[in-house]
Amino acid sequence: MDVTIFGSGYVGLVTGVCLAEVGNNVLCIDIDPKKIDLLNSGGVPIYEPGLEELIKSNREAGRLTFSTDAEAGVKHGLFQFIAVGTPPDEDGSADLQYVLAVAKSIAEHMDSYRILVDKSTVPVGTADKVSAVVRETLAARGADVEFDVVSNPEFLKEGAAIDDFMRPDRIIVGTDNPRTAELLRALYAPFNRSHDRLMLMDIKSAELTKYAANAMLATKISFMNELSNIAETVGADIESVRVGIGSDPRIGYQFIYPGCGYGGSCFPKDVRALEQTAQSLGYDAQLLHAVEAVNFRQKEILFDKIKAHFDGDLAGRTFAIWGLSFKPNTDDMREASSRVLMESLWKAGAKVRAFDPVASEETNRIYGERPDLTLTEDAISATEGADGLVIVTEWAQFRSPNFPALKANLKHPVIFDGRNAVDGLQANAAGLTYVSIGRRPRT
Ligand code: NAD
Repeated sequence: MDVTIFGSGYVGLVTGVCLAEVGNNVLCIDIDPKKIDLLNSGGVPIYEPGLEELIKSNREAGRLTFSTDAEAGVKHGLFQFIAVGTPPDEDGSADLQYVLAVAKSIAEHMDSYRILVDKSTVPVGTADKVSAVVRETLAARGADVEFDVVSNPEFLKEGAAIDDFMRPDRIIVGTDNPRTAELLRALYAPFNRSHDRLMLMDIKSAELTKYAANAMLATKISFMNELSNIAETVGADIESVRVGIGSDPRIGYQFIYPGCGYGGSCFPKDVRALEQTAQSLGYDAQLLHAVEAVNFRQKEILFDKIKAHFDGDLAGRTFAIWGLSFKPNTDDMREASSRVLMESLWKAGAKVRAFDPVASEETNRIYGERPDLTLTEDAISATEGADGLVIVTEWAQFRSPNFPALKANLKHPVIFDGRNAVDGLQANAAGLTYVSIGRRPRT
């Protein structure tokens, strides 16, 4: 089938390559000419495991092409995927300008039936807005062309995006039109083979399902972070508590790890957008306010612990940071906890020596050259001459460090572990102080 994807970011690229991989003819459109030039010259603008190889093989097979030409995109695919960003507006609501701009551009160029498939995360009611823009634009052209708008939210996880798309837990399709539903079912059939994962529902429920999923996951994280602070206060060990509650199948072990807060391009903005949607309709979403407030506080916890450890005397000190991306296996630093920490350290007059396996380029793009930031080639170099080590992202390679080497490198032998990623007892045995999130104190 012929498929067009508007937006060649994390979601658009992954959707595009995976649909091409199963034999579709996919054209990816982006308004950023640098991104498209890079993709056309064999480069990949983001780090996502497996993506580069799939782009290469599908380009070579002629099933995947990239362009900035929106008109060519509209002419190409029966399916017109919208996978552009929906960043937060000033009040926290989702900014729909990119989604509606794509809808307008599709309507400006379409001359036969098209299915607009909304993959971006958008508030309930957006499909109606997309339809209205298409109708108005067609009317202004004097054109009478049939179209449908489908809500098909994406649930991929950065770092495991290809696998998530290829073997999805669910494929949500929101439409009231049975014929469109069948076309989507056919498009997704290769990803829906062993048992039926395609869930058909009305458009508003599909739109809300995406927010509900992210808000639930964010709630789990904030709940555990709240509990880790209570565990510290009462002298309990959050890791024992985690294991204890996870054994109840109604709770389960997944996604109940305490840490230094959630970030990324989805949870923070989606929780805020859902709160805002509710607010705009007169409903006060109290649980969501709390989820966000707890996370905000948790992102400051590492700085507070560092400050307490050094009696507030941080000016002129240097801290090693391991992990800059908002989670392992991605270079995405949107709303990353590392940014809150680095910016607080800089404000306090401290310097940072940081290492991340893939996010150095992104860090440079965000912060540029600055005298209080050094990015190192490997983890151990970051600790040379530093006053302490802070683990912010739990990349696998940080889990079992060479503790004696850390002890030798650090001016003050202390690890602040924002993800409870390393063995505190081993750190203590090597003569290091270990500061965690809610574990029993080990000094
Ligand atoms: P992104 O910022 O990585 O990519 C968006 C792309 O859209 C950019 O390359 C931008 O240049 C392009 N764009 C903007 N306007 C355009 C236009 N008019 N025509 C063509 N291209 C245009 O964003 P993303 O992370 O891929 O997220 C896209 C959407 O998917 C968001 O709504 C997000 O919430 C949702 N989502 C993201 C994830 C994730 O893990 N990143 C997961 C599920 C859902």
